[in-house]
Amino acid sequence: MANVARKKLIAGNWKMNGLAASAPEFVRIVGASHGLKGKVDLAVFPPFTLLTSFATASRGAGVLVGGQDCHDKPSGAHTGDVSAEMIADAGGQGVILGHSERRADHGETDAEIRAKAEAARRAGLVAIVCVGETEAERKAGKERDIVGGQLAGSLPDDAAPAHVVVAYEPVWAIGTGLTPTLDQVAEMHGFIRAELASRFGEAAAAEFRVLYGGSVKPGNAAEILAAVDVDGALVGGASLKAEDFLAIANAAG
Ligand code: PEP
Repeated sequence: MANVARKKLIAGNWKMNGLAASAPEFVRIVGASHGLKGKVDLAVFPPFTLLTSFATASRGAGVLVGGQDCHDKPSGAHTGDVSAEMIADAGGQGVILGHSERRADHGETDAEIRAKAEAARRAGLVAIVCVGETEAERKAGKERDIVGGQLAGSLPDDAAPAHVVVAYEPVWAIGTGLTPTLDQVAEMHGFIRAELASRFGEAAAAEFRVLYGGSVKPGNAAEILAAVDVDGALVGGASLKAEDFLAIANAAG
């Protein structure tokens, strides 16, 4: 496969964490982003309540701010939902889709995630589409079937590296402190890239960024980020502290 240099992306998923009082953590990330420009891309996905203030704080800096989900329709009678267009209007430039917590807590299907990814494209957002197997699925040796099926079902036919990023997040590694071995990470990332190649072609597959997510911390970031075919990290818990998030970003740069 073509040897394309893919700049690493370190993305922080704040989940349902963060109040107005958390802004200084984000401002620290923005402040440090200038020194990392050119070496690594940074993104932070705060709760919707902080999206506008974070987007304003990051203006002119190199930190992409986005939402953690979106509806597939631009507007309408969908109480409690937020559209991709609303995220863009609030200053967001990206959205996380199909996180395992949304697949589990809200029963999101691959087809729904695909429709949301199409909505993200319509609104000009970069979509980070998450895939990953549960512990039981890995124990049963089904991780490739599961991840392959999620990719096939969740990615739109016109997915392209400029507006879609894939995040491989084994569910059993999220928030548990457990991580796959480096061989397991490299093996799954290679599989994902091969799946992307068979659907979108070798040239596009060489440009898609495939992030790893699941208990990435300052202490293990360097080795995970050095694994073959790992183009960055989607970071949950460790993204809430600027110091830890920036240590991970520095390990990528
Ligand atoms: C996540 O939820 O996307 C995640 C990777 O969480 P953590 O880093 O806390 O395991």
